[in-house]
Amino acid sequence: MSHDRPPDETTPRGFATRAIRAAARQPQVDQRPTAVPIYQTATFTSDTADELGAILVDERPGYAYSRVDNPTTSALAEAVAELEGAETGFSLASGMAAVHATLVSLAGAGERIVATRAVYGSTRSLLAGLLTRLGIATEWVDITDHGAVERALGAVPTRLLYAETISNPTIVVADHRALAAIAHRHGVPYVVDNTFASPYLCRPIELGADLVIESGTKYLAGHSDVLAGVVVGDRARIDAIRAIQIDTGGTLSPLAAFLVLRGLPTLALRMERHSATAGALAAWLERQDGVARAFHPSLQSHPQHALAGRQLAAFGGMLAFELEGGRDAGRAFVDTLTLTERTASLGSVHTIVAHPASTTHRQLDERGLAEAGIRPGLLRASIGLEDPDDLLDDFGRALAAARSAGTPRAAALAAAGPR
Ligand SMILES: *Cc1c(COP(=O)(O)O)cnc(C)c1O
Repeated sequence: MSHDRPPDETTPRGFATRAIRAAARQPQVDQRPTAVPIYQTATFTSDTADELGAILVDERPGYAYSRVDNPTTSALAEAVAELEGAETGFSLASGMAAVHATLVSLAGAGERIVATRAVYGSTRSLLAGLLTRLGIATEWVDITDHGAVERALGAVPTRLLYAETISNPTIVVADHRALAAIAHRHGVPYVVDNTFASPYLCRPIELGADLVIESGTKYLAGHSDVLAGVVVGDRARIDAIRAIQIDTGGTLSPLAAFLVLRGLPTLALRMERHSATAGALAAWLERQDGVARAFHPSLQSHPQHALAGRQLAAFGGMLAFELEGGRDAGRAFVDTLTLTERTASLGSVHTIVAHPASTTHRQLDERGLAEAGIRPGLLRASIGLEDPDDLLDDFGRALAAARSAGTPRAAALAAAGPR
C-alpha cells in the first residue's frame, strides 16, 4: 500500500498541522475491495472551487457532503433499486424517514392521500398526526375493497395511493396490479411499503407501482442491529425525495448502509427459511385446540391465498393467530415462550412474538381494540431462523399455558384480584 503524499510537502509544519494532514492521507488501493467500503466522512474534497460548486448544485455528479450523497449509502440505494427492478433509489436514516420523505415529496397542504387502513403503526401516526396538522388529509380505505379505493381516489385533489404488500394485523395482501391500475386511472402514483415482503418475495415496481419503500431495518438487514430506509422508483420522483432529505436531514450513516448491504447476499436464503418455518407453524396452529384462527398467506383459509400465490415468491415470515382465551391467553402465550424475543420489530434472525393487546394497544379496552381491528387474543409473530422443530416445541408449551390461562376458571380467578 502506498500513500498519496505529494513530493512537495516537505516544508516544516507545526505538529497540529501535520497531524490533521497525516490523518487524512488516503490509501491508494489498486485492487477493488470485495465489500463496499464504509466511507465514514462528512465531506469530500474537490480539486477546485468550481468543481465543488458544480457538485453542490447538481451540475455534475460527485460527492461534496454526506447529507447530500455518500458512496456507501448510494451503493445501498442502487443495490436495492436493482433488486426491486427500479431505475434508481435513495437511502435514508430509517424506514420512517423514507416514508415521510416520500409522502411529503408528493403531497402538500390542502391535498389528500388515500391509504390502506391496515397500515404500519408509525405510518398511521405520521398520516393522522403530523401530516394532518400540516394540512395533508388522509382517507383510510380497506385496500382489498377495490370499489372503495376507486371511490376514495375520485375525490380531488388526491396525490397518491398508499398500500403495503403484506400488512398487519391479519397479514393482508394487497393486489398490486389491480391497485396500480386504479391509481393510474385517476392519474396518481401508487406507493407501496414492501417491508414485510422484501424484494425477494415481491417486486411491486414490476407489477405497476411507482415508488417502493423498504424499512432496511427489517428483512434487508435481517439481524436486528441497524436502522435504515430505502425508497426506489423513477429518477424524477427519487430526486424529489432526495431534495426533501437534503432539507430535513434524515441521513443514513455509512456504517448503517454497510450493515444493510451485508444482509442482501443472504436475503433469498433467509426469506425461504422464514417462509417455510412460518408456513409450517401456521398450518400447525390452525389445527390446535385453543386457536380460533391462524393468518398466513400460505393457508387455504387466507382470504388472499390465491393472490399471494401469484404475487409472492414465497409466503413470508409474518404470521398472526388468534387465541380463544382472549387477553389472558395471549399474555400467557408470550410469557411462556423461551426461544423468542419479547420485543417489537420484525424481520430478524430471532423469532419475535408480539401481543398487541398487552403491548402496543394495551391502553385500549375491548371496544377500542375492536375498533382497531385487533382481537384481545391476537398474536403476531415474525418467524426467525431457529430450527423449526425447536420453535414448534416452544409454541406447543406456550399454547398449553395459554389454554389454562384462558379458561373461564382462570379468568374468574384473575378477576377476583391478585394472588
Ligand atoms: C418497521 C417498519 C417501518 C418503519 O421502519 P423503521 O426502520 O423502524 O423506521 C415502516 N413500515 C413497515 C411496514 C415496517 O415494518
